[in-house]
Amino acid sequence: MSTLPLSNRPDLARSIPKPRIPALAQVDDQVINVANQEDAIRFCMRSLRAGRGFTLFTLNLDHLVTLRSDPSFRAVYARATFVTADGAPVARLARRSYAHVERTTGADLVTPLAGAAAFERLPVYLFGASEATLNKAAEKLKQQYPNLIIAGMEAPPRGFDPMGEAADLAADRIARSGARICFVALGAPKQEFFGDRMAQRHPHIGWLGIGAALDFIAGEKSRAPRLLQRIGLEWFWRLMQEPRRLGLRYLRCAMLLARLSLHHEEAPVAPARIAR
Ligand code: UDP
Repeated sequence: MSTLPLSNRPDLARSIPKPRIPALAQVDDQVINVANQEDAIRFCMRSLRAGRGFTLFTLNLDHLVTLRSDPSFRAVYARATFVTADGAPVARLARRSYAHVERTTGADLVTPLAGAAAFERLPVYLFGASEATLNKAAEKLKQQYPNLIIAGMEAPPRGFDPMGEAADLAADRIARSGARICFVALGAPKQEFFGDRMAQRHPHIGWLGIGAALDFIAGEKSRAPRLLQRIGLEWFWRLMQEPRRLGLRYLRCAMLLARLSLHHEEAPVAPARIAR
């Protein structure tokens, strides 16, 4: 048997069959196929153990606003391996077609997935945010999981183009590091474009779009108290923290939510499946 790590075996990556994941729910024509945090971790680790990578995106209202106007973002989502319901409203709408969908954000996934990766000695890579955030987040994760292998981390410059040559070079560095999981913190839709493109280039790596999760872990931003999260008001907490940046974004989200709440039909999801 070859002693090369899976990450260095393009023969294996090429032979990886596309997994088929049933859609659980659809919101505004977008598929959600992972119901909760536990399933997300299980599906990710199962793929990685089989030598396969994946993309995992967390669908929120802001993504839905962009998806309506950007066909290339729709194509990226259509290729996603795993999609969770990120925002509380998206999870609520999804529950109209599948009752067990729970809100599962990027911030909910990083720490438990890092724990599972540490347990199975699968190296992870942190990509995005700022150097200071990366250092602090890496330190916190290592404190929590001393066995965690952080194969590398990198904060690209602000003008970073997820579809450009610099992105390809970054992805090649990530692959060379031996990482099997890459946490991508570039904000939407940059992180999804990057993850999708890089999953095609390095299909043995799991690429997750995680938004501000590393800022939360690093303590650079504070996540809403549990009570606000539970009653679906995390957006309000974030708006209070960054009103100028998020005001217009949340206004667009609120308008879309009003439309979807009125028109979203309680239709069972067709037995269609999405695949990578
Ligand atoms: N970010 C980045 N490059 C960019 C835009 C954002 O590295 O061009 C980082 C930002 O520093 C933060 C993370 O992406 O750590 C999430 O950004 P944002 O809060 O916009 O994401 P959201 O959670 O709102 O999707």
